[in-house]
Amino acid sequence: MDEAIVVGAGIGGLAAAAALGRAGWRVRVLESAPEAREVGAGLAVTVNGSRAAEVIGAAERIRQNGYELRSAGTRRWDGKWLLKAPDATGTELIGIHRRRLHEALAAVQDADVLTGARVTAVDPGTPGGERARVTWESADGEHSAQADLVVAADGLRSVTRSVLFGNALKYSGFSCWRSATPDKTLDNRFAMTWGPSAEFGALRISADEVYWYGYVTMPSGRPIEDEVRAVRAYFADWAPDVRALIEATDEVIRHDVWVLDRPLPRYTSGRVVLIGDAAHPMLPTLGQGANSALEDAVSTGLLIRAGNDLAAGLREYEKQRYRRTQKLVNRSEWMARTGSHLGPRGQWLRNAMLRLTPPQAALRNGTRIFNWSPPGSFGPEPVDGR
Ligand SMILES: Cc1cc2nc3c(=O)[nH]c(=O)nc-3n(C[C@H](O)[C@H](O)[C@H](O)COP(=O)(O)OP(=O)(O)OC[C@H]3O[C@@H](n4cnc5c(N)ncnc54)[C@H](O)[C@@H]3O)c2cc1C
Repeated sequence: MDEAIVVGAGIGGLAAAAALGRAGWRVRVLESAPEAREVGAGLAVTVNGSRAAEVIGAAERIRQNGYELRSAGTRRWDGKWLLKAPDATGTELIGIHRRRLHEALAAVQDADVLTGARVTAVDPGTPGGERARVTWESADGEHSAQADLVVAADGLRSVTRSVLFGNALKYSGFSCWRSATPDKTLDNRFAMTWGPSAEFGALRISADEVYWYGYVTMPSGRPIEDEVRAVRAYFADWAPDVRALIEATDEVIRHDVWVLDRPLPRYTSGRVVLIGDAAHPMLPTLGQGANSALEDAVSTGLLIRAGNDLAAGLREYEKQRYRRTQKLVNRSEWMARTGSHLGPRGQWLRNAMLRLTPPQAALRNGTRIFNWSPPGSFGPEPVDGR
C-alpha cells in the first residue's frame, strides 16, 4: 500500500490525513507537540472551508459544534457603520472554537498519529524514483522513515519549507490579541471594526462564548506583563460593545503576525507537497489561513490518489493550488492596505469613500473569493462519518 507521511497535526495536517486516507494512502502523521490538540481561540469557517470539510465528512460536525453566522458589515472604531449589510437570511460563516474544529477533523481521520515527534529533516526523493525520507526526533531518540508522498503541514515556521526552499519570514508590523470570552449578548452577526492601524472583530462560537480578536500595530516581540490590562487600555476609547467584551475577558493570548519574505516559487519538490501556513502564510485580514489550509488539505487527497501517477498528481496540485492560494495571500494584503493597516489620514479618506459605496455590491465583491469548490469528491460517506 502507498504510504504518506503528513508533517504536523494542525488544521491542515488532520484534514490532509482524512483526505489521503480516503484516497487510498496509508497515512502516518508526525506531530511535534506532546498532544495533538489545538490551542487558541476561535475562527470563522467560510463557505470554501465548509465545502472542503464536506469532502472529508466533517462539515456537519463543524456546523454542530459551531455557530451559524452572517456578515453584518464594517464599522468605524466608535461603532458607526461604514458599510452595513442589509438584513438577509442564510448562513455565510460558521464561528467555531479552534479546539472544536480540530476535534471535528480528528474525528474523521484514522491515520496513525505520532505525537512528540519533531521532524528535523526531509529528503524529497523523486516521483517515479527514490522514495522521500523523513527524519524526526522523539523522546527515545532519532528516527527516520521512507514515504511515497510527504505532505508538509508544519505551519508558519515549517522545517520542511526551510529545508527545501529556505525562505525567510518577515514581520507584518502587527500583533493580535485573541480570546474566547463568556458572553450571551452578541447576536449572530459578524462585524469588523476598523480603527487607526487596528481592527477588532467579534463573533459568536457557541451559545455562551464569543471569539474576539484585536489586531494592532506593534513592534515584534514586545514584552507585555499584563496582556489583559494592555488590551483594555488599547481599546479604551472604542465603541461601548468592544469595551464591554474586553472588560468581560480575563484571559487573552497574543501572537505577532509573520508572513513570508517573498512567495515560494512552487509548493512541491520531489515527492513533497507543502500545504497551509507551510506553503503560504497570510495576513489574518481576510480570515483565510485555516480555510485555505482546509482547501489545500482536501485537494491533496482528491488530486494525488494512491496508485496513480504521482508526478501527474503533484503537477495538477501545483496547477490548481498555487494561483488560488496566491490570490488569497494578495487579497489579504489588499484588505490590510485598505483596512486595518491604514493610519488616521488614510482611514479618513477610505471611510469617506466607503460611505458612498452601495453595501450590497461591496459585500458581494468582498466575499466572491470564498466561492471555491473542491476538485471532485470521494463518493458518499459511510453512515458513521468515517
Ligand atoms: C491572529 C490570527 C488570527 C487568525 N484568524 C483566522 C481566521 O479567522 N480564519 C482562518 O481561516 N484562519 C485564521 N488564522 C490563520 C490560521 O490559524 C492558520 O492559517 C492555520 O492554523 C494554518 O493551519 P496549518 O495546519 O497550516 O498550520 P498550524 O495550524 O500552525 O499547524 C501546524 C502543526 O505542525 C506542527 N509542527 C510544526 N513544526 C513541526 C515539526 N518540525 N515536526 C512536527 N510537527 C510540527 C505544529 O505543532 C502544529 O500542530 C489566524 C491566524 C492568526 C495568527
